[in-house]
Amino acid sequence: MKILSVASEVFPLVKTGGLADVVGALPPALAVHGVHATTFVPGYPGLAAQLKKRKEVHAYPDLFGARASILHGEAAGLELLVLNAPKLFDRKGGPYGDPAGADYADNWRRFAAFSRAAADIAGGALKGYAPDIVHAHDWQAAMTLAYLRYDGAAIPSVMTVHNLAFQGQFPVSIFPQLGLPASALALDGVEYYGGVGYLKAGLQAASVITTVSPTYAQEIRTPEFGMGLDGMMNARAGDLQGIVNGIDTDIWNPETDPHLARKYSARSLKARRANKAALEERFGLDRGEGPLFCVISRLTWQKGMDILVDTVDGLVAAGGRLAVLGSGDAALEGALLAAASRHRGRVGFVVGYNEPLSHLLQGGADAILIPSRFEPCGLTQLYGLRYGCVPVVARTGGLADTVIDANEAALSAGVATGFQYQPAAPDGLYHAVTRAIVVHARPDAWSAMQRQGMKSDVSWTKSAARYVDLYRSLLAKKVVTA
Ligand code: ADP
Repeated sequence: MKILSVASEVFPLVKTGGLADVVGALPPALAVHGVHATTFVPGYPGLAAQLKKRKEVHAYPDLFGARASILHGEAAGLELLVLNAPKLFDRKGGPYGDPAGADYADNWRRFAAFSRAAADIAGGALKGYAPDIVHAHDWQAAMTLAYLRYDGAAIPSVMTVHNLAFQGQFPVSIFPQLGLPASALALDGVEYYGGVGYLKAGLQAASVITTVSPTYAQEIRTPEFGMGLDGMMNARAGDLQGIVNGIDTDIWNPETDPHLARKYSARSLKARRANKAALEERFGLDRGEGPLFCVISRLTWQKGMDILVDTVDGLVAAGGRLAVLGSGDAALEGALLAAASRHRGRVGFVVGYNEPLSHLLQGGADAILIPSRFEPCGLTQLYGLRYGCVPVVARTGGLADTVIDANEAALSAGVATGFQYQPAAPDGLYHAVTRAIVVHARPDAWSAMQRQGMKSDVSWTKSAARYVDLYRSLLAKKVVTA
């Protein structure tokens, strides 16, 4: 079985969040089941240069006003197709915005072009390549399915939503330039609240819709979490399912992780102390006995970083210490810097995106705080489980599905792996932090919880099998309806 996976990020080549991790980790996990995935990504700066066995397999004299080609090759153990269109993708900033953080004004064009090319590939534009299924990830890839639909292509498709907050909404004035028939500008097409909605168009056209946890699959059917798409999610509820993400357990392995000051396993948890000492040094924290909490996050409202800010004083007063790694919203950055200077030696803050430091935090901190208001799946709690860095999480989305709360019953049965709380507000977080501090004071109970978390299956094994079942069911349906 051959899958064309279409996405705007893929780890380790380009990453702004969990989407990249998933897109990079799924192909090797599917390969175990005999499913071959080829990943199509935009040609961001330097990406084409990393392709081994690079070959041009298709050329466009004019793709949405840009000269473009499709390159085939391998990088980071993945088989890739890359849309080489320097005018659209070879830019100094990030994948979606300029160095100052503003979205590119022509994102509609960049990702329409990308999706048009993906639909061409799926439709047979490359000699000798005919995928069985197209799997599109998030709004940047969603128009692939709309193009296939209006091309009249019969290929089955999966649309995976990694975060419904990002929908690719554009003014209706772009519609004539998309190359779609006039009939596509309809309620059951690409029209969305008077404009054009890329994700909505993909959801409408997909054979099936998945999101990245069962709880989030339910939550997005409500107005609170549906972000305007709850009606559509309810209408398509029979085709909607949640499959929780796994993590790459080779990259995230405390026994082999090169970013740790000291590697360790569930049998040598004491070795984590060396990592904690490295963190104390790096974050300017006093040495101490109380638990060291960490945060690794985009600094946004979704991630509840304002809730964190409002909880810092209480956390410190209760005997905790805090190390935060993150970047994003300037006001939240400022508030965290202020908290760090207010609690010098107890709270440390490193601004920025730093992959190696994120590993050291998981390997040295006692617990990781994830106060998200909503969280489609979340990966940092999975890394936390694997590293014995106990997750303290808001009970929402994938956080609710992957962490077993340390209530009395779970603690005495020895199955607890972390702390959950609700509602997503400072009181809730503070209460969970104090519960964690109480359990941390009982070293045996705490290390039992760490070990229990480290036993959790956070790999792709189960989830890849679910995707394979889904792909198979789509192909079976195709045979029946053909
Ligand atoms: P999202 O994709 O919504 O940001 P996830 O939890 O799904 O949230 O994935 C976030 C990913 O980005 C994880 O791999 C996490 O370790 C990483 N990450 C987030 N912020 C930082 C940071 N400042 N430095 C390093 N890694 C980060």
